[in-house]
Amino acid sequence: MLTKKASIFAAEWTDAKLKVGHVVLFVSVVCISLIAISTWGVFNSLEYHLHDKETEMSNLSKTLSSNIEAALTQADSVLLGVKERLESEGSDAENLKKLDELLKIQQKRLPQIHGFFIYDEQGRWLLNSNDIIPAGANNSDRDYFIYHRDHADLVPYIGPSIRSRSTNEWIMTISRRINHPDGSFAGVTIATIYLNYFLGLYDGVDMGANGLINLATSSGSIIVRKPFRDSDVGLNISNGSIFPILKPDMSSGTATINSFIDGVERVIGFRRINGYPLIVIAAFDRNEILADWRSESLASLIISSTLLTILSFIGYRLIKLMSQQIQVQRELQASQRNYIEVNKTLGLMAFEDGLTGLANRRQFDFFIETEITRIKRRLDGTALIMIDVDLFKNYNDHYGHTQGDECLKAVSAIIKKHANRIGDLAARYGGEEFAIVLPNTDYVGAFLLAEKIRLDLEQSKIQHTKSPLGVVTISIGVSALSGAEIDTPKSLVDTADKALYIAKSSGRNRTVISD
Ligand code: GH3
Ligand code: MG
Ligand code: MG
Repeated sequence: MLTKKASIFAAEWTDAKLKVGHVVLFVSVVCISLIAISTWGVFNSLEYHLHDKETEMSNLSKTLSSNIEAALTQADSVLLGVKERLESEGSDAENLKKLDELLKIQQKRLPQIHGFFIYDEQGRWLLNSNDIIPAGANNSDRDYFIYHRDHADLVPYIGPSIRSRSTNEWIMTISRRINHPDGSFAGVTIATIYLNYFLGLYDGVDMGANGLINLATSSGSIIVRKPFRDSDVGLNISNGSIFPILKPDMSSGTATINSFIDGVERVIGFRRINGYPLIVIAAFDRNEILADWRSESLASLIISSTLLTILSFIGYRLIKLMSQQIQVQRELQASQRNYIEVNKTLGLMAFEDGLTGLANRRQFDFFIETEITRIKRRLDGTALIMIDVDLFKNYNDHYGHTQGDECLKAVSAIIKKHANRIGDLAARYGGEEFAIVLPNTDYVGAFLLAEKIRLDLEQSKIQHTKSPLGVVTISIGVSALSGAEIDTPKSLVDTADKALYIAKSSGRNRTVISD
């Protein structure tokens, strides 16, 4: 029974532990998922930030290249007109005057134009739309002049950025060769464009604290760069990080590279300018992108950590609460088991004599009451045997109380052995007195049983030196009454008691039947 209870309890305990285990697992999975999602989000956001900036730089380089292309094409179409006119009508003073008027109009119309110029085959100034012709000025040493003199091709030439000899401003040049009718070199017509015009195009574009925009020739020479520094103009960056990766057939692209000039790592977008050997590069400091990303990630990490803390706290409280509940349940079950045990003991204590294990006086009284009610109804009889140990006071005095208890146990065992019929009740009546109720038994039956008990004890030979017989003996009184003769239980007990008294007074160790 107990083993079964224990196994049920063990099963409940394992079940409860399993439930706590599930909650621990659930909370852990949720927390780990949250960490994984946050980490993934943070890294994903880095990718997004970098990619986003690459796209922005690519779009910016596209817009700028369109603007620059338009500015150059406008200047070049004027040059083409000048070239054709000079080649067909010659460069006499009248023709130059007409051209001068025409160019002045065009210059007013085109804000990027610093000036239009015409040089003869010696490099001498024939025309300056700004009217200033320095005395003895000769431009045969200029890059574009040398190029056109030595190359018969018909494409426009973009020269390196220079300071104007007439106004000292930073300009870039676009020029075309003029031929004599026989195809020999007749001079150069050139449009100069303010670098400031390009810088103006870049205004209003947010490039962060460390971004830059660069217009360079395909061979890697800087035309203009923002932020602008005099020393950067004309600088050759063909050995920088971008040019080595630029394939001739590549018209645009994005990359992350270290700057040739300041060593800063930047995300760049670049684009070649249609029809001209130029390339425009827009670049944003990678660290600035990372700083944006970091502050955004920090905010998301703070939110995630707060959530994680709250979740862990709730999980911890839940698990603790469940553990406490299980503990309370466990204690409750334990005390319930204890309670059942105590109840059982109390039940036994209520009806059983602690020393001898026989029925106690309470059970005897209850039993005899019930028995008498029964025989009164059925009108049959019942017998009662009263037993008293002889000279037991002497026994106690001589052998001690503990030994006395052992003696009482031995007497009880003999009584129990003989009064074993179903329905009989053997009880400890009090002290060294015992009683046996024998339902449906007459004098003869009761007397025979009493004698069996008395003789059995005598033959057990429990030593009793303070008794004349030398062994422990008992005296017995027997009574047997029918339902009609009995009034109360007391009458049955009194009758047996009287017989017992006679047994005592007539020498002890005998059985007397009441008359
Ligand atoms: P008698 O033959 O006339 O009955 O003499 P007695 O000495 O047995 O009579 P008495 O009633 O004077 O003594 C009974 C003794 O039984 C007294 C008491 O110390 C002892 N006694 C009663 N209950 C117990 C018990 O539970 N244990 C022990 N050891 N002794 C008990
Ligand atoms: Mg007595
Ligand atoms: Mg006695």
